[in-house]
Amino acid sequence: MKLLSLLALSTLAASPAFAQETRQLDSHEHGVGQLDIAIDGSQVAMELHAPGADIVGFEYGAESDGDIASVDAALLILAQPLDLFVVPDAAKCIVVDARAELESEDEHDNHEDGDEDHDDHEGEDHVEEAGHTEFHSEYLLECGDITALSEISFAYFTAFPNALEVEVQVISDQGATAFEVERDAPMLDLSTVN
Ligand SMILES: [Zn+2]
Repeated sequence: MKLLSLLALSTLAASPAFAQETRQLDSHEHGVGQLDIAIDGSQVAMELHAPGADIVGFEYGAESDGDIASVDAALLILAQPLDLFVVPDAAKCIVVDARAELESEDEHDNHEDGDEDHDDHEGEDHVEEAGHTEFHSEYLLECGDITALSEISFAYFTAFPNALEVEVQVISDQGATAFEVERDAPMLDLSTVN
């Protein structure tokens, strides 16, 4: 039940209705994603937040066929967690649940480029362009031998060339531990926390 509580909490925190989430979108750093991992018994819950800039290279609203196709392709890739976060075969993990979505921030006023011209009402829809976007995905894995989950290889960086770093938090029996996994060394060592 602990796992379900964690998921419920993170879902709550991700709700656009919370001001905190708006601030998080507004203040995210391009190139840096966030991955929360909760290990509970044989199950691993993961939640990824990554700037649109990292995943598709842009954060404006996709309108062209090419941009829409990029977003759709990214969502398909993000729905295959074991291709992005590769676990040892010996851990025998399967995907129980995987979902990915694109979250956008629609308010003009939160855009970092606050001095851009908002008075130009001709042409494009500025509401669609403003602010930041993030890809958000949630995964649930079931592992046949959780003790073999000693590391996770971040093929994520291969899939998404604009991604430079992922800030990882792992919650397990050992408590919460923070890691930074970078493109240069795309391996998360779980031996001390699992
Ligand atoms: Zn951004």
